Amino acid sequence: MAHSTDKLQTVPDIRDMLTRLISLPSISSASADWDHSNEAVVRTLAEWLEPMGFAVEILEVPGMPGKYNLIATLGSGPGGLVLSGHTDTVPFDDKRWQSDPFTLTEKDNRWYGLGTCDMKGFFPLAIEAAKAFVDQPLQQPLIILATADEESSMNGARALAEAGKPKARYAVIGEPTNLKPVRMHKGIMMERLRFDGQSGHSSNPDLGRNALEGMHEALGELLNLRTEWQEKYRNPNFKVQVPTLNLGCIHGGDNPNRICAQCELHFDLRPLPGMNMETLRQAILNRMQPLAERRQLNLTFEPLFDGVPPFETPADAALVKACETLTGHTAHAVAFATEAPWLQKLGLETLVMGPGSIDQAHQPDEFLEMSQLQPTVDILRGLIKQFCL
Ligand SMILES: [Zn+2]
Repeated sequence: MAHSTDKLQTVPDIRDMLTRLISLPSISSASADWDHSNEAVVRTLAEWLEPMGFAVEILEVPGMPGKYNLIATLGSGPGGLVLSGHTDTVPFDDKRWQSDPFTLTEKDNRWYGLGTCDMKGFFPLAIEAAKAFVDQPLQQPLIILATADEESSMNGARALAEAGKPKARYAVIGEPTNLKPVRMHKGIMMERLRFDGQSGHSSNPDLGRNALEGMHEALGELLNLRTEWQEKYRNPNFKVQVPTLNLGCIHGGDNPNRICAQCELHFDLRPLPGMNMETLRQAILNRMQPLAERRQLNLTFEPLFDGVPPFETPADAALVKACETLTGHTAHAVAFATEAPWLQKLGLETLVMGPGSIDQAHQPDEFLEMSQLQPTVDILRGLIKQFCL
């Protein structure tokens, strides 16, 4: 039988692991100029996890060549704990960084680098936590999950939910929350509304069908809907307690003396937990259709991306209680969205909690406070003990 020291010989320490992960660009972006494959990050994680006894599965995200999810499983059993992170980072603004984004740089007890806090830093800490258990018989599996494209399409998590993998009971997503448990966030929807009418000379309104006037009425309806939703839904756990609808941009028409033939609006919706995205879209459509018919305008209403559903895990869930006890903090709500809704779809009781602050995420000079390293390892070990041993 192998001793843990043998198994761990090839696995670097936290700092060396993070240095390596940060050096591997894995930006995901809807813009092809920025977008990278995350294969090197996933292969590197596999290279460390396999000698530790993890069974590693690397799954290409369907329809996205070069993008991979990794599922690494230690032990087996009916339940189990998933420690989940995304392998991609956002793009960066080179001129605004004081150090090289791809070189882990230590300064003032902080580790600087692109992805240190959001969230490559979570993987070395999860692996370090797992090291203590490689020679113990686990009653329930410990699964390290690494996803693709969280920062852009969330297609990695979507693909996992569709594949029905991984199977486990609990999941912690290590997004930066300063090690405070998070059990809810709002959803994100971005929608496109367009009216096509007919142009004509402005001197006679009967010569055309004015898309801009249709949009004027539509804007009123959208704001009415917003008021109705804000009266109906409120959640005091959130800083902004009501669902929001933001009119983001509008384009239409070409000339003052022409009847406006096209007008297009992009807006964003942030639904609260308990609100269903399809129901909201239907409610909007129900207001737009009669208006468009009456004005003989062609209506287009469609999502700009698939959206992120809102997420909530009950306050009395076992994982929430365990994380509150281990951290001494009551689980709260955040303003950013995560992959949690898809892990929930897989039947996993899910919570978001990881080192680093969201204030540093997506910023130049992103860093992880070194003072959070050992507490993260300790908390993760506490969770593994409780849910896997
Ligand atoms: Zn993140």
